[in-house]
Amino acid sequence: MLLLSLAITGLVCCQVQNITWPNQTNDIHAELAYLHNLEYVGLNVANHPYEPVPVGFESPRIKNPHPKAVSFLNGLSLEEKIQMVTGTSHAACSGEISLGNQSDFRFCAQDGPAGPRAVRGTSGFCPELTLAATWDRELVKQHSEAMADENRGKGIHLMLGPVSGGPQGRSAYNGRLFENYGSDPVLTGELTKVAVSAIQSRGVQTSAKHFIAYEQETFRHPGAFAPSSLDFPWSYLPFPAGTQFQIDSIVGDRAVHEVYTWAFADAIRGGTSAVMCGYNRINGTQACQNSHTLSKILKTELDFQGYVISDWFAVERTKDSILAGLDMDQPGNDPSAIEGELWGDNLLKMVKNGTVPENRIDDAILRILTPYYSLGQDEGYPPVSFNSSTYDRQLNPYISVRGDHRNIIRDVATDATVLLKNSGALPLRNDSSLGLFGTDAGPSPYGPNCGMLDQCPIGSKNNGTVTSGGGSGASTSEYVITPLDAITRRVIEHGGGVAFDLDDYGYASPPNSFGYSNFNATMESLDTAIVFVSLQSREGLDLSTMDLANGGNELVKQVASKCNNTIVVIHATNPVVISEWIDHPNVTAVLNAFVPGEQSGNSLVPVLFGDVSPSGKLPFTMAKNESDYIKPLMEPKIDPTVRFDDELLVDYRRFDDMDIEPLFPFGFGMSYTNFDYSNFMFHSNISSGWHFSNTSTNQLYDVVGTAEVTVTNSGNVTGSEVVQIYLSYPDSAGEPPKVLRGFEKLRNIKPGQNKTAKIPLTRKSFSIWDVSAQSWTVPSGSYIVSAAAHSRDLRLNQTLTI
Ligand code: BGC
Repeated sequence: MLLLSLAITGLVCCQVQNITWPNQTNDIHAELAYLHNLEYVGLNVANHPYEPVPVGFESPRIKNPHPKAVSFLNGLSLEEKIQMVTGTSHAACSGEISLGNQSDFRFCAQDGPAGPRAVRGTSGFCPELTLAATWDRELVKQHSEAMADENRGKGIHLMLGPVSGGPQGRSAYNGRLFENYGSDPVLTGELTKVAVSAIQSRGVQTSAKHFIAYEQETFRHPGAFAPSSLDFPWSYLPFPAGTQFQIDSIVGDRAVHEVYTWAFADAIRGGTSAVMCGYNRINGTQACQNSHTLSKILKTELDFQGYVISDWFAVERTKDSILAGLDMDQPGNDPSAIEGELWGDNLLKMVKNGTVPENRIDDAILRILTPYYSLGQDEGYPPVSFNSSTYDRQLNPYISVRGDHRNIIRDVATDATVLLKNSGALPLRNDSSLGLFGTDAGPSPYGPNCGMLDQCPIGSKNNGTVTSGGGSGASTSEYVITPLDAITRRVIEHGGGVAFDLDDYGYASPPNSFGYSNFNATMESLDTAIVFVSLQSREGLDLSTMDLANGGNELVKQVASKCNNTIVVIHATNPVVISEWIDHPNVTAVLNAFVPGEQSGNSLVPVLFGDVSPSGKLPFTMAKNESDYIKPLMEPKIDPTVRFDDELLVDYRRFDDMDIEPLFPFGFGMSYTNFDYSNFMFHSNISSGWHFSNTSTNQLYDVVGTAEVTVTNSGNVTGSEVVQIYLSYPDSAGEPPKVLRGFEKLRNIKPGQNKTAKIPLTRKSFSIWDVSAQSWTVPSGSYIVSAAAHSRDLRLNQTLTI
């Protein structure tokens, strides 16, 4: 449902005209990009002079602003209008808009994509990576609704999420990979759309982020707000604050459309109220000051009628941002910004002296207020009942809004768990006598989420079980059910037992006076060992290695050298490289459980003991070697610039194109049963030669055919299967060898039974972005549509000539 389109009828007032900006800036970033970038079409070169900022509500989709927004705007003085678009820092929420106590208007924006962050009484939800591994729209819907209810319960109007393709996953080392719905734009886009409409259906606004081409953390910010209290290493800020440029993504127009804005288009189709611009530069111009990406692509092509909110302290210049199409600066004044004071009084002066037209501010306010009123946030909305800038007990009374959300969190994490290897060790018997190894099996000594700061100390030897990545997308929970807790509870009820040694390799428990360590004793006395290994990344820095943390590879090898039934469980925010032991004959089963949120142990037990058959599938490729992945730029540079020469080749598309054999392909995941595919049909009435602009108001999203395939459970236990549809274009189209175009999870197929997937494909599924025509078009030629169990297991194919 397009929430923004909620019956906004009738009233037109304060109608602002399309504005063409007279003044050009002499932007050094633009000059630089022009030099780097002559052969890239579009972005920067068109950035100066400013694109006209499209005025909201002149779209066939949403014709008018909300009447209450119009009358509210009419009652505002110029000073108040400026307050409506300038955030307030050091407030209770991550960001606020305040007209002072005399006004009833309240606006609280809070992180983030895995539940309210650093707010007591809330749940530790699953990060989006984990949701993506379920490939299940219904679970994403229910999980999003539960998150929305907690946001609303705490008085949060705008949830700072979902991450919807920023980062999209160009580099698997990315410190925020876990915040996004997997490394394919179609997977990300489909789940984003579901999440946005589910969250907004509960009255909470969403903010799809980070727009666009925000593909690495290293050098993401020139340093205006380098958090001195945290241990950010040199790679984050090699040069003194303010002296270096932020990372510049030099990206071609085709990749912008086919990869980096794909999921944002779905966020807009889902009705997102806000879109957050990122920290990086795009073809030379900072993302929140980028007239081409904000005004031309987002507000014109994608027909976005909501508001653009800045990432925190991303803005450098007032005029360049507001005239580029930014509608709200958060969290307001940034004393260390290049320009000094931003927005606020500075913007007021600019409106008064005619540098910024007042109707640009009016347009921003109508864009901000229309979703607010359309979602009914002006009536009966709960008050903000926390203050995330302090731990003060009085300001943070304990009010639980958790309800029974633990159930959906557990179910998502169970469903996401991917079985990578099984030579018969799983499922376990209930009365097993088990030995658990590794810090990742147990609690963190600092408490859930590594303590109140939600950041595991870098270099710490024991962070406990990894349930989330760190930073603003962290899942912050009041408690964590560890694997040790849940497994112990399960086996002792059935007469089994659990021994454990929760040290990692190299920190193994010291030997006793007989020279014997607990590690050895545990290992040698057991039939079955479960080794828990992990890797955790966080906002602000990228990984420098994809190896398991704290000697995890050695730990597995040590245990496997003594125990011929060694099961490995991985908790990781990124793909990890496990080639050194995956083929070890004593490693009898491997599960990838990603980052499961607060219900970690409870979500793993049903898979370990066979209450359910695993049905997660990888939302990224697991490579054999680290060098198979694109690395972020990490070398210290004053003007760090990355050319996205890989263009459309994100994740598996690049592995396919370069013929790199993955360890486990994108979309891979085993089960305790087997599935046979049959009766594949795809009929389409699509024809070539069409040209459609980049909006959802034309026929781009029309369904042009439905892929149908029957899946039969030929094994012995009930299981669920994710059917994936890949498309191969004619060679002349210049596309990757294959691209995901649709998917469906068929749930609970009983032994001997079958179910049929019906997966709709749209005109956009068959289109490419024609750079010179600046439109989507369907190339003519021979296509292959495939029904697949994963990206390297195309079970049934059909050729289609268009
Ligand atoms: C992050 C955003 C987040 C904001 C507010 C920024 O550093 O990039 O994703 O919403 O902080 O916490």
